Amino acid sequence: MRESPISATVDFDADGVQHGFLKLPVSHDESAWGAIMIPITVIKRGDGPTALLTGGNHGDEYEGITALMKLANRLTAEEVSGRVIIVPMMNPPAAEAGRRTSPMDKGNLNRSFPGDPDGGPTHQIADYFTRYLVPMCDVALDLHSGGRTLDILPFAAAHRLEDLEHERACMSAALAFGVQTTIMMFELDAAALYDTVVEAQGKTLVTTELGGGGTSTPASIELTERGVRNFLIHTGLLDGELTEPAHRRFVEMPDASCYVQSEHAGLLEMTCALGGHVRKGEVVARIYDMTRTGVEPVDYRAERDGIVLARRFPAKVAMGDTLVVLGEEVATLER
Ligand SMILES: [Zn+2]
Repeated sequence: MRESPISATVDFDADGVQHGFLKLPVSHDESAWGAIMIPITVIKRGDGPTALLTGGNHGDEYEGITALMKLANRLTAEEVSGRVIIVPMMNPPAAEAGRRTSPMDKGNLNRSFPGDPDGGPTHQIADYFTRYLVPMCDVALDLHSGGRTLDILPFAAAHRLEDLEHERACMSAALAFGVQTTIMMFELDAAALYDTVVEAQGKTLVTTELGGGGTSTPASIELTERGVRNFLIHTGLLDGELTEPAHRRFVEMPDASCYVQSEHAGLLEMTCALGGHVRKGEVVARIYDMTRTGVEPVDYRAERDGIVLARRFPAKVAMGDTLVVLGEEVATLER
């Protein structure tokens, strides 16, 4: 495989604070010899672990983007023991468009890993993370939210991994993030996720969902900033005390029955609330035929008891949309 076309304007080995770019050459109508400029901040003092903090993997998920922009502007080298690499927007064309995917190549970055140096811009970005940035880090935190189409109960998550010690390291970092809900996440399709690449390299990974609807709130930003700080304290990069949530909730997602997906198009009526509890068989959503009156709606029922982790945000639905995501509250996520 050839070297990445992306070059960094920062020196990853230099002490101090550097603000720069990852530059990806792209030749297009508006700029024959142009580049996608991916903002990056490196903050380093001496030896110590390296944390890779990322947001904007999807361009319409604002908690991570906002919290990491603020952190990049504020964090000083004197505060850290080791190295913090901050990329607030992994896929800037998507973020600038306020969309999940990149308008340049329709690429969904978090379905494009491990990436390809000869692919479109989104695959080239994925490849740079896979072969250059992830190998530099010991721990990685990827900040997601629901974006425009989902609203998600704030949570930090890890995955079941073959190596139990590795799984425990990820889960302990997810717990340290310090939001109320911690999840053992079941992915519908993990093959091309950033998470999978990071975990395959043996690194500690925490992923999060911190709100949604294509916006942010004072509460969701505060949770995110506190979580990032907790994560850096947990990894030994920052001094300080971990902030614990007032209550803790552990949630398991055993299989695909957690996802209630639409087999109809129309108007969505949610009949369960985010964070609420539902019983197996309970109606969680209804879909109405918008073309006529006099037709009963279609009921969608929970296939299991659970807590409502996520809901579709827009009220218009198409076939195949995820309407509701359920999780099972458990006493512990240890195995
Ligand atoms: Zn996302």
